[in-house]
Amino acid sequence: MKQQTLALHYGYDKDVQGTMSVPIYQTTAYEFRDTTHASNLFELKELGNIYTRLMNPTTDVFEKRFASLEGGVASIGTASGMSAIFYAIANVAEAGDNIIVAKQVYGGTTTLTGHTIKRFGIESRYFDIENPKELEALIDDKTKIIIFESITNPNVTVADFDVITEIANRYNILTCVDNTVATPIHCKPLELGCDIVVHSTSKYTIGQGSALGGVIVERENLSDKLKNNHRYYHFNEPDESYHGLIYTDLPLPPFVLRVRLSLLRDLGSAPSPFNSWLHIQGLETLAIRMREHSSNALKVAQFLEAHPKVKKVNYPALKSDRFYNLAQKYFKGGCSGLLSFELENKEVANMVANKTELFSLVVNIGDSKSIITHPASTTHQQLSSKELIESGISGGLIRLSIGLEDANDLIDDLIQALA
Ligand SMILES: *Cc1c(COP(=O)(O)O)cnc(C)c1O
Repeated sequence: MKQQTLALHYGYDKDVQGTMSVPIYQTTAYEFRDTTHASNLFELKELGNIYTRLMNPTTDVFEKRFASLEGGVASIGTASGMSAIFYAIANVAEAGDNIIVAKQVYGGTTTLTGHTIKRFGIESRYFDIENPKELEALIDDKTKIIIFESITNPNVTVADFDVITEIANRYNILTCVDNTVATPIHCKPLELGCDIVVHSTSKYTIGQGSALGGVIVERENLSDKLKNNHRYYHFNEPDESYHGLIYTDLPLPPFVLRVRLSLLRDLGSAPSPFNSWLHIQGLETLAIRMREHSSNALKVAQFLEAHPKVKKVNYPALKSDRFYNLAQKYFKGGCSGLLSFELENKEVANMVANKTELFSLVVNIGDSKSIITHPASTTHQQLSSKELIESGISGGLIRLSIGLEDANDLIDDLIQALA
């Protein structure tokens, strides 16, 4: 089936209750038939609901549907994008290990990898997404995962998937792509050879800026890469916290299973059933919205490119963009709704951000309403000046998240703000 059909139907059996809308299972726990049933569930002899920290039937529909859209075999929902990214790291790395991260990633991912997990003894090593070959030199025996974004924010660079997966596969290391901005409608990293996809579903997936969420998606046959791989010994040895279970021995997707059984169990960033339901509503229109976000963004980018006060526009669907060729190669149907542009300096950028009326001054992306952000003073404000330079964020940079308004109205607003 095609994505748009999957987004509306996959993973939900209407015949059970007959409801057109997926029911919200607003419950913490589930009744067991008897003690044998209960112990079978805990021992994974039978699969079923135990407690909403681990799984929930509403969330389950979202997880199945999202995995199908990404072309993955399974997914797991989390309370936010940041918890999804943290769990993807914590699922493979422990004190003494290192991970390799693109310098150009979401601000929260930069602070998570550069500061918080450092306190857990996990080292982050950074490579330039514009020069991905340099990541090879960072690899050693303790390297557990390579993390990058398909489209970065706010620089709007496009990852060279072939270069990264070739190196990762040569060393048998997992790749994890944050596909929040591109969404599976425009880019499918698992089909491009990556192993794990993470998202902040708080953005385009939910679509209307109404709730936080995250998801981790696993590709088919990931066991092949994990099995007998010394880097992932904990997937091959008995998990003492789960009475000796060996993840790669089970006929279940091991990465997502371990996040569920071990990390959600112990750390608990589970999505609320109501938020999962909102995410299901979002998925229904994701493909249609993305087409509209992308065509609107291209019109705004073309307008900005011709404006005398704009020094540079970053949007990979523009023929003049440095990443145009990579975008043509890896994306289909558009390049999403995120773009950025450079103005003379911080003062001019602040003036423009303050003068727009239709664009809201908000630190979010992927809303149906357009958003303007000045990264250097907001989203990336906690980065040191060295980190700012390394992330390529100048004082004059403005980020736009183009919504679903009429593009002409958005352009008119920018015309008056730039005047
Ligand atoms: C927003 C965002 C995150 C963090 O997600 P939350 O849902 O806000 O926790 C991670 N990565 C990217 C690319 C994002 O845009």
